[in-house]
Parts: sequence; structure tokens; C-alpha cells
Amino acid sequence: MNDRFAVVGAGTMGIGIAYVAAGAGYQVDVVEADAERARAVPDLLAQRWAKAVAQGRLSQDEAEANRSRVTVLRQIAEIDMEPDVIVEAVPERPDLKRTVLAEAESRAPALLASNTSSLPIGTLAAPLARPERFIGLHFFNPVWAMALVEIVVGPATAAETTDTAVALAKRLGKEPVVVRDMPGFATSRLGVMLGLEAIRMVEDGVASPADIDKAMVLGYRHPVGPLELTDLVGLDVRLDIARTLHAAYGERFAPPPLLESMVAQGRLGRKVGHGFYRWTDGVRSDG
Ligand code: NAD
Repeated sequence: MNDRFAVVGAGTMGIGIAYVAAGAGYQVDVVEADAERARAVPDLLAQRWAKAVAQGRLSQDEAEANRSRVTVLRQIAEIDMEPDVIVEAVPERPDLKRTVLAEAESRAPALLASNTSSLPIGTLAAPLARPERFIGLHFFNPVWAMALVEIVVGPATAAETTDTAVALAKRLGKEPVVVRDMPGFATSRLGVMLGLEAIRMVEDGVASPADIDKAMVLGYRHPVGPLELTDLVGLDVRLDIARTLHAAYGERFAPPPLLESMVAQGRLGRKVGHGFYRWTDGVRSDG
């Protein structure tokens, strides 16, 4: 153990994973291929730490110490050799993930993980020389607030790797559940099904997005309705997952045309300010 952690991809999830890893005392390398996004990473993290300080959850000194542990890189080849862990958090595209994972493996991490929401770990492991060290570490959005990490054990994952992943999740302050390697695991398979059906209900004109969400919040005690959650996750992210699950399980996961057309129009949810709702500074308004 050398307390070195790397995350590849600094999108919604990579930023959150870097935040909790720095908070757990790791030296964190964040690898982001997009130049503009890479420039934004320090500010995005600083905003999050400022909020934690304002809420009294961290002291200014702790926030500063966490900040000083994060380095932003542009290429996987810049990660120091033999870190404790590398987590891949690039978009949900199998070929992209396989390429990134093979490159990440060349940095010889003790543990190599994917934050995939739906892709089988066994298929992502295909190009790896040491698939026994590879596992799914499925974090939830927003990572700083969500307690769960779903640990997905691939067909070649060693028992020792699972133990290491469970210990890592606990060190990051998370509750692990260990699941079998099936498309969509335990969470996405159920959660995306609910989201897709809610979108089909909007298509059918059953009710407005706000009322469908309100019905699930007040009637079923969901903390967030399925359409607002789709906005928070990202419509593009959910579409990628739906396509994977459609291929694996058939028509019940067919992406609704409304989801396809909203993604084509760039209505990707909160991260762009517009999805099923409008978003301004993280605050929702209808339409
Ligand atoms: P995102 O699109 O917000 O971020 C992906 C980032 O990866 C982008 O900043 C992109 O520039 C970067 N990237 C792409 N190729 C790269 C490369 N070769 N090297 C370095 N960086 C690269 O995506 P996200 O929402 O953070 O999702 C990432 C993964 O996490 C996906 O597999 C997704 O299914 C999963 N996931 C997402 C959520 C969610 O709520 N958004 C929740 C759990 C899991």
C-alpha cells in the first residue's frame, strides 16, 4: 500500500470519486482527456470543498489538505507506476473502456476497477493481462453523498481482489454490496427500468414530469423521482445503459423515442442546464 489512487475520466463521477479518495487520505491523480474539462477540475473540486466547509463538515485546514493531495493529469501514462488503485470512469462505451483499462493496467495498479453502470466486468476484462486484479466499483451520484458502492465480481476476479475492493470502499466511507457479474448488476437493472417507464409515461401523456416525480416521492417514499434522477445522472448516460440492457435483456429495456430525441437535441439533464427540467446553479425549475 502506498496510498496512491488514480481515477481516469473527470466527469460527473470521476470528480466525485477523486473527492472522496482525497478525503480518505489518498494522493489522487485525476486523468482527464478533454483540455477544457481538465482545466475546470480544480475549481469544481474547490467548490465542493468550500461547500463542505460552509456546512461544517470539514475544517478549512482539512479541505486544504485534501485539495493539496489532488493532481490533474492529461494522460494515463503520467500516472506513477504501481498505485494502490486505478478507477476507470470514462463514458459507458465498451471499446473506449477496454482501451482505457488496458492502458491503465500498464501502470501496474494493485487493484484495477471500472465504474461502469451496466457493462459486464467479464467483457471489459478481455484485453487485460491480469483480469484477476480487475473488478467493478460502481459508485453512485453524487459520490460525496451516496453511501453505496456496488462491487461487481467478474468471472476472473480473484477472491483477494474482492477483499481489497471491500476494504477500499469502507476506507472511502461507503457501504459495499458484492454482486454477481450480470448486465446492470443489482442497481442499474432496477433503477433504469423505473426511469425508462417514467419516460414512456411522459410520452403517453399520463402526467407532467413534475407530477410523475411527485407521485413517486410522496406515494412511494422515493427520495427523488425517476425523471429528476434521470436529469441528475445524465440522459446520455442513461441512454447508453438502456442500450446495453436492451441488448442483454430484450424489449423491456428498449430506449423510449423521447429519450433518444432529447439526447439528440443535447437535453442531457442538469449538467447542461436542461433535461426534463430546467436547472440553474443546481436548482430545478419545471419545463
Ligand atoms: P461523463 O460523460 O460526465 O464523464 C466522462 C469523462 O471522461 C469526460 O470528462 C470525458 O472527457 C472523460 N474521458 C473520455 N475519454 C477519456 C480518456 N480516454 N481518458 C481520460 N478521460 C476521458 O460521464 P459520467 O457520468 O461521469 O460517467 C462515467 C462512468 O460512470 C460511466 O461508465 C457511467 O455509466 C458511470 N456512472 C455514471 C453515473 C451517473 O450518475 N452519471 C452513476 C454511476 C456510474
